[in-house]
Amino acid sequence: MSWRVSNDTQALGARVDMTRTSSGSRKSGPPAYSNSYAYKQTHVSTEAKALLATPISSVCPPCRGVLEWRKRFNKYKTLTVPKKCVRCGGRTIKEPYHVACGQCVRKEACCAKCLTARTVWQQALANADQPVVDSEEDAEN
Ligand SMILES: [Zn+2]
Ligand SMILES: [Zn+2]
Repeated sequence: MSWRVSNDTQALGARVDMTRTSSGSRKSGPPAYSNSYAYKQTHVSTEAKALLATPISSVCPPCRGVLEWRKRFNKYKTLTVPKKCVRCGGRTIKEPYHVACGQCVRKEACCAKCLTARTVWQQALANADQPVVDSEEDAEN
């Protein structure tokens, strides 16, 4: 019994036409497929780059946006001394612009900056229609 593997993959000569004629509206702005976050080369210091690399997960998306904006424009001032937490009253906040410490944030599941409950902004995220990125997936047969 001869078991032969038919090399069908090479038969897929037809390429996906990627250069679609753009019949849509021609805009002078950024390309439609670009995300709202334009992580392009702006003049950021290495320090700011490191800050940008660190994820901010303890704050809600709006606050996160504010903080990332501050980081990007070098307006992000790090704390020299721990700040007082509005929840537990301890000087435990090491994160700038935060009003509650990490422990309280975790305990209460809220934003460390505006104290909005996590469930609120997660629901808001779920409700918000996420813009569908026009990404053509490879049709792998
Ligand atoms: Zn606290
Ligand atoms: Zn917030």
